Amino acid sequence: MTRRTPGSLVRDEVRSLQAYHVPPASGLVKLDAMENPYRLPEALAAEMGARLAAVAVNRYPDPSGASLKQALREAMAIPDSQEIVLGNGSDEILQIIALALARPGAAALSVEPSFAMYRISSIATGLRPIGVALRPDFSLDEEAVMRALEAERPALTWIAYPNNPTGNLFPREAVVRIVDAAPGLVVVDEAYYAFAGGATMLAELERRDNLVVVRTVSKLGLAGLRLGCAIGPRAWIEQFEKLRLPYNVNVLSAAAAELLLAHREVLDEQTRRIVADRGRLEAGLDALGIERFASAANFVLARVADAPAAFEALRQRGILVRTLHGSHPLLAHCLRFTVGTPEENHRLLEALRSIPT
Ligand code: PMP
Repeated sequence: MTRRTPGSLVRDEVRSLQAYHVPPASGLVKLDAMENPYRLPEALAAEMGARLAAVAVNRYPDPSGASLKQALREAMAIPDSQEIVLGNGSDEILQIIALALARPGAAALSVEPSFAMYRISSIATGLRPIGVALRPDFSLDEEAVMRALEAERPALTWIAYPNNPTGNLFPREAVVRIVDAAPGLVVVDEAYYAFAGGATMLAELERRDNLVVVRTVSKLGLAGLRLGCAIGPRAWIEQFEKLRLPYNVNVLSAAAAELLLAHREVLDEQTRRIVADRGRLEAGLDALGIERFASAANFVLARVADAPAAFEALRQRGILVRTLHGSHPLLAHCLRFTVGTPEENHRLLEALRSIPT
């Protein structure tokens, strides 16, 4: 009798993967997932309700997504010369790109530590993941990346700009040199662009044939909508379109995003507050003598004496943060704090003051 269990049928690399971990957050101050902490103003929420009520949910979404793409173009200043493919979150975009490039034997390179889904999507699609360690201060080791590009010839290189979970923005010229040296496609993931003082690689798309920029509305305050996109030359985007599942962005998300991006001054104002409050949170951590790393994103990475104990003590005090301890040697005893509301940040700092760090 042949065995028909997952153990005998599911690919080894999938069985050895860990699912992307999302802990329960009910009743806690949620500072673990880089969400914007602000709800929509009531009037805008009501307008969204009316708009959604008018959506024809009996119909499939517009397959071209033309009006939603136009809204993203305007909100994100996407050059007219570049094409867009829509994803159910940028997570889905990363998976589509990996799927497209996963020829037998092909490799995908990322720096480490970086966003966990680069590795997960690479492995899930059969790409061989290659990690190049950052320096202990999380700066980019450009020479090591260049050596790995040469030695491994990756079909795909992932760069988060700014990086997650470290929060820093790699030097623009170094990223451009990596794009130019890469033998394959480079995906610059700009999930946190709104907090990075205008840093973006969008303008570089014009001059290069191996660059794609990934964006999301999640960190702008719309994480629940699940909407992301890849931006790049037609030659790349038309290949990704073939792997995008039909109707992957649902009608309610599309309608809500179009409305809310048209009112983006509300989201932009929230983003400005988050950036200002990031500075206050950093200053608060400094005042407590907690080691922390410079952030160009909506979160701050810090190192404490005992991260598992601090994580638990914060949870006991009603605050959920992310512990990165154990996920990479460079992240030993690191915690990541999403910038919350001023009250939430204050609660975090007070809690940190009361526990051994
Ligand atoms: N890229 C990076 C660097 C991220 O940190 C995240 C979310 N944590 C994503 C992509 C995925 O975002 P989403 O799927 O919500 O668009």
